[in-house]
Amino acid sequence: NVIVIGSYVTDLMTLTPHLPKPGETVLGGPFQMGPGGKGANQATAAARSGSHVTYMTKLGTDIFGEQALQYFKNEGMNVDYIKQDPTEITGTAQIIVDQHSENSIAVALGACGKITKEDVYATEEKFKGSDIALVQFETSMEAIQTTIELASKHHVPLILNPAPYRDFPKELLTKVSYITPNEIEASELSGIKVIDELSARKAAERIYEMGIPHIIITMGKQGVYLYTGEGTGELIPAFSVHAIDTTGAGDAFSGGLAHSLAAGKELKESIRYANAVAALCVTKLGTAPAMPHKEQVEHFLKE
Ligand code: ADP
Repeated sequence: NVIVIGSYVTDLMTLTPHLPKPGETVLGGPFQMGPGGKGANQATAAARSGSHVTYMTKLGTDIFGEQALQYFKNEGMNVDYIKQDPTEITGTAQIIVDQHSENSIAVALGACGKITKEDVYATEEKFKGSDIALVQFETSMEAIQTTIELASKHHVPLILNPAPYRDFPKELLTKVSYITPNEIEASELSGIKVIDELSARKAAERIYEMGIPHIIITMGKQGVYLYTGEGTGELIPAFSVHAIDTTGAGDAFSGGLAHSLAAGKELKESIRYANAVAALCVTKLGTAPAMPHKEQVEHFLKE
């Protein structure tokens, strides 16, 4: 059982020959619309891997919100705690992806940026039966803080995906079990620019000192740097695939990791599983719809 608190946004994605410069209009296509947002992407990745997922977010009552609710139900998630606020819009993300699969993204969080302490407390009962809790930085700080406190209160190991990076009360980190920053977020968090294995090690040591026992820095196609305070840490390689669209890779990773840890697997085995989920995700266009199903991941891991 996995509980995810986080964002939902409708992705509006256009492929273009290059990313538009300020003031420039670029003609592109195709266009794709679908569910996204870090919370929803991670919840989808975990659910498709076979976890029972309780997902809490906040939507508007507009057409995007109604579509989102239907989507979560179709994915088999528990939607009992999702709130709809008629005074807010459902979040949107306008994504542009170029030929090299680089992207530019503008997000309007709308309702999911306004998740309150009370909204999170309403899920407390569900924390009690959860194996892993998962939260990102793409919602209100009070929602993030309350999630971390509830997980700690009920002794549920929590994965913090500190994305997109923002300032936050550092004492929260002492209640976090696993952190999954990418290179940029690890650099922001540690003050050490992460570009390779050596700098990842230094950054991981610094983050470890902040009170988190498991540091997992995702480094794109290089793989993942794992540090747990013993020895020097290690670089666990990514799988080699032909990447089409890397949006959602980090979300696939965190969702896959949550699933595998919740299923009781060892950390390194879970990282390998999460790497496979993320590798399959980057071979497809889109975010939540690009998350692979359990059978695909298992087949990929056997190859
Ligand atoms: P983010 O999407 O948050 O920037 P990363 O780029 O670090 O995160 O990617 C997260 C994970 O996705 C990586 O650790 C790796 O497992 C996988 N991944 C990302 N890009 C690729 C790629 N080109 N090929 C294979 N795996 C990839």
